[in-house]
Amino acid sequence: MNPIRELAARLRQARQVLVLTGAGISAESGIATFRDAQSGLWSRFRPEDLATPEAFRRDPALVWRWYAWRREQVAQAQPNAAHRALVDIAQRVPTTLVTQNVDDLHQRAGSPDVIALHGSIARTICSVTKLNIDADWLAAHPGEPPRSPHHADGLARPGVVWFGENLPPDALDRAEAAARACDVVLAIGTSALVYPAAGLPGTAQRNGAWFAEINPQATPLTPTADLAVAQAAGTAMPAVLAAWEEYA
Ligand code: NAD
Repeated sequence: MNPIRELAARLRQARQVLVLTGAGISAESGIATFRDAQSGLWSRFRPEDLATPEAFRRDPALVWRWYAWRREQVAQAQPNAAHRALVDIAQRVPTTLVTQNVDDLHQRAGSPDVIALHGSIARTICSVTKLNIDADWLAAHPGEPPRSPHHADGLARPGVVWFGENLPPDALDRAEAAARACDVVLAIGTSALVYPAAGLPGTAQRNGAWFAEINPQATPLTPTADLAVAQAAGTAMPAVLAAWEEYA
């Protein structure tokens, strides 16, 4: 069977779906993934060297400016057809959406209850207490970055999870519970290199779920997938919805 039709059929028959997304689902919204070359100003920096607690300790202003640039990119971006298709699918079958993205595009597309494992680029937190710093306070306290209002030794920092940091335990617990409960798991646009997120499809499979991946490139999870769709998410996801209609 054609892979898109097979995926549509599996989703239609599912009782509970888990979707795991990564930076690739937002690539067609114009947001660079970490594995793509960065453009312009930031092309000489590797994201893996900026999105770390060590980088922020070494040069907080550099990391702050990089996030300000990315926040700008995200603010100008719009959800694409793949984000929108996931809203539609969740209306047809019970779905838990877990994302590694920090761009809030799923929420802006209208997905309810997104489990954002790596936080949100729109948030700012205290580097020591991790408490939220609100936007009004930030607007009144310029600085690259300003000192934290919550702790004398703290700085304002992006409210995202950096490489080497722990995930918010409640978000991870909910994602793992959803992985154990689903009967279909779909990974879209993730290189599957960052754990524990990359372990969710395996957890689902060990509990009997059928696993499909949508990614134009092979990943370490591709050999374990029951179905690999080597297409861009913005092409594959609307096609899945169209195939769904054919079965209806
Ligand atoms: P990644 O950058 O490691 O991998 C992106 C994957 O998407 C690749 O496997 C690539 O082949 C695939 N891809 C590229 N274009 C695609 C398309 N049109 N359709 C489907 N797939 C496509 O991303 P990751 O696995 O999410 O891990 C990187 C970490 O970086 C994450 O933890 C995340 O927090 C962070 N990040 C987030 C954003 C964002 O919020 N948009 C952007 C960059 C990085």
